[in-house]
Amino acid sequence: MTELPKLDYAALAALAQQSAGITAACACGTVSLDGWISVPLSLDEENLQDIGTLLEDPYADPTFTEFHPAGTRYDAPDAPIAPRYFPYNRCTVAQCKNCGRHYLRYTEAGGYFVDRRIRQLSSRLLVDAPL
Ligand SMILES: [Zn+2]
Repeated sequence: MTELPKLDYAALAALAQQSAGITAACACGTVSLDGWISVPLSLDEENLQDIGTLLEDPYADPTFTEFHPAGTRYDAPDAPIAPRYFPYNRCTVAQCKNCGRHYLRYTEAGGYFVDRRIRQLSSRLLVDAPL
């Protein structure tokens, strides 16, 4: 496994800003990824390249606490993106090789299954909330 660079808030905000300026239609936008969903079959993950991680410390378990000051839920399209909170604190950041949009991905692990989840990185929802 190659080591992905740790992205701090400023770096993440810069990527989100870049994404916000992209208007070209792309296959990665066929299904709405505004809120967390399981990676849709229609999305070709081959086109997504991991460029960084939000994991602070690979030797510590990141918190499962979520950040919802406005009463949103985990999978709400308007839920804030707070990098220190679950699930952002275990995400990798990927970029679409075709259009340049950025996405957050992590693996949700249950008892007998693993589920890859994806959400689009949005500058509008990004918040630098302390733990
Ligand atoms: Zn794309």
